Amino acid sequence: MVYPEDRLPPLDRAFYAGVRKGMTKVGEVVVPPREAATFDVPAGHVFRIVGVDGPQVGDLNLWNAANLAERFYSGKTRALHGTHVTVGDRLWSALPYLRPMATITADTLDWYGFDGDGAGVHDVIGTRCDPYTNRLLSGGDYHHCCHSNLTRALARRLGTAFEAAEPHVHDVLNVFMCTGFERDEGRYIMKASPVRPGDFLELFAEIDLIGALSACPGGDCGSGHSSDAASCFPLRVDILRPRAEALAGWRPPEVSSYAPL
Ligand SMILES: [Zn+2]
Repeated sequence: MVYPEDRLPPLDRAFYAGVRKGMTKVGEVVVPPREAATFDVPAGHVFRIVGVDGPQVGDLNLWNAANLAERFYSGKTRALHGTHVTVGDRLWSALPYLRPMATITADTLDWYGFDGDGAGVHDVIGTRCDPYTNRLLSGGDYHHCCHSNLTRALARRLGTAFEAAEPHVHDVLNVFMCTGFERDEGRYIMKASPVRPGDFLELFAEIDLIGALSACPGGDCGSGHSSDAASCFPLRVDILRPRAEALAGWRPPEVSSYAPL
């Protein structure tokens, strides 16, 4: 059996199409290669993650700007929508909140689908490269893994120490990353991302968000992580404001109404 995606609250496609008409760019953040940056997106705004100079994968974290405990839940998003996400899929928040934090409104890589190896783009199956696993596997230390980049960026945003920010960093949406599971043994595989300059993934913020995006040290993630070996490029995040008429009558979704015994 599969999770009954058709039982999710229906997606109002006409609403999201209306949102995209006549948006005004109100901000931009550039994420340097092998680093991360944060950005703020008010509810009802749109953010667009754009490839700029070359093929580059981005690791995305999201938090409710008013409550960092409500953060992106990649595992439940995977259960509800599948291993890879695209237009119409939502990024769900952690328990006990479980509501859409963002809805994907455009994806220029949707043509990729699934290739002959079963790999697709924008996965919620990987985690984020981190220095602890790198030390476990290679014995060496590397300080620009996505985990560290996201932690440093959030610490700057919050004005806290690295140690205070680190527990808030969580499993990511792997933007532009091309991944799947190898058929015989089910092992996780990564392939070079097909992303090219100008490609983008666009999301509607359902609630006030803080986002953090790391330009992964793996670059297009076709070979290794956790070193300075790969070619890496910046990523850009554009913040866009829809027309007021497009949002008439719209309200952010409520948190889950389930009450424990
Ligand atoms: Zn990474």
